[in-house]
Amino acid sequence: MDFNDTAEEAAYRAKARAWLDANAEPVDPNEPSGDPLAEREDDDMIRSAKAWQAKKFDAGWACITWPKEYGGQGGTTMQSVIFNQEQSKFKTPPPIYTIGHGMLGPTIMTHGTPEQKTKHLRTMARGEEIWCQLFSEPAAGSDLAGLRSTAVRDGNDWVLNGQKIWSTGAHFSKWGMIVVRTDPNAAKHAGLTYFILDMESKGIEIRPIKQINGGSGFNEVFYADVRVPDSNRVGAVGDGWRVALTTLMNERVAIGAGSATGGFRHLLKLARDAKRGGRPAIEDSAVRQKLAELWVTQQGLKYTGFRTLSALSQGKIPGPEGSIGKAVGAPMAQEMAALAVELQGPLGATRDAAATLHEGLWQGMWLATPGIRIAGGTDEILKNIIAERVLRLPPEVRLDKDMPFRDVPTGPPSK
Ligand SMILES: Cc1cc2nc3c(=O)[nH]c(=O)nc-3n(C[C@H](O)[C@H](O)[C@H](O)COP(=O)(O)OP(=O)(O)OC[C@H]3O[C@@H](n4cnc5c(N)ncnc54)[C@H](O)[C@@H]3O)c2cc1C
Repeated sequence: MDFNDTAEEAAYRAKARAWLDANAEPVDPNEPSGDPLAEREDDDMIRSAKAWQAKKFDAGWACITWPKEYGGQGGTTMQSVIFNQEQSKFKTPPPIYTIGHGMLGPTIMTHGTPEQKTKHLRTMARGEEIWCQLFSEPAAGSDLAGLRSTAVRDGNDWVLNGQKIWSTGAHFSKWGMIVVRTDPNAAKHAGLTYFILDMESKGIEIRPIKQINGGSGFNEVFYADVRVPDSNRVGAVGDGWRVALTTLMNERVAIGAGSATGGFRHLLKLARDAKRGGRPAIEDSAVRQKLAELWVTQQGLKYTGFRTLSALSQGKIPGPEGSIGKAVGAPMAQEMAALAVELQGPLGATRDAAATLHEGLWQGMWLATPGIRIAGGTDEILKNIIAERVLRLPPEVRLDKDMPFRDVPTGPPSK
């Protein structure tokens, strides 16, 4: 493992830093960090996110790893990591492009037709159009291949019916990428097909879901006879699972890159500012012990992350051990927020910015962290991945794998 930048990496970092210095306002390290999980989806936020993305695109800092012909920079993963590390030191709009740039763009690059690539990738890279992922359904999340929304061929079109849920950003997206069942007689993974969907199509109804943290970042989306041209199909009919796997593999990388391990410094400051028995809470030995435990976990995560970075720097592809970052990082973020809320005593129960320490940001984070333990692979699913693919333990028993989907039991046996 090498903790230092190579000469080229250091030069690239300096160039990125100089551009960011000239174009964005640095984060004040003494200010409480913004709630990283807050859901701000008003028009102003969308406008500022689009403007920032266009600025990066025009200056050659957007979608660094994408080929130049698709609007990227033809750069390395390490260069992308370096730019993101530097960018995180500046105040920038919330990341509304993670799904498009991190997951859906790479899927179109791998499986899309030349026309789909030409039509969509450059506008996606410049951030002119926002994209959403329409995979999960009320009865298909971890077991995604159990999805029940359908598409039936009708001439040059397909007709979609069904429901998706937890669709992040669907309410401000122009495009979505959707997996539906096109053959109920095939085995569950074999009867799926993947499409690009215009979110302004007739028959789509988007209903925002109100979340416990006050945001409405994701939605229920209903489809009633929605027509999708066959030219929007990504991959072959019945090959949707393989295409979806490309999206899901990129999701792990995109989420891993975003799972910040920062915030400990702010927690330490809060422990100094909060009082216990009239004394700074940080002087309480139980508080010190908890802080020490969290710091050790965070250091473990930091150095595990460096292992991934070293692999990337040496041109290797990180393996399924990347799941460790989220499996440990998401519960740790929740514990940090829980401690910060507890240290504020009764005020921990309010989010009033004026009354609370650090403007109620930890309360917001505490309410959002359960979702982070679910999104993009729950704790249990990540542990299954580590067990099966890293530790090589026997796989889960999957009884319905080769059964025609229409025969998979969905409820109690009929009498
Ligand atoms: C903030 C957020 C954003 C999201 N954004 C999107 C989005 O943009 N697009 C999209 O399509 N989806 C999105 N999702 C949905 C997300 O992918 C699913 O919630 C997730 O895959 C879990 O599926 P589920 O909710 O159906 O839970 P289930 O799969 O029903 O799981 C319920 C419980 O059972 C456990 N469990 C399930 N299977 C196993 C198993 N085999 N072994 C052990 N335990 C198991 C789970 O760990 C969990 O505790 C989002 C979710 C969240 C929270």
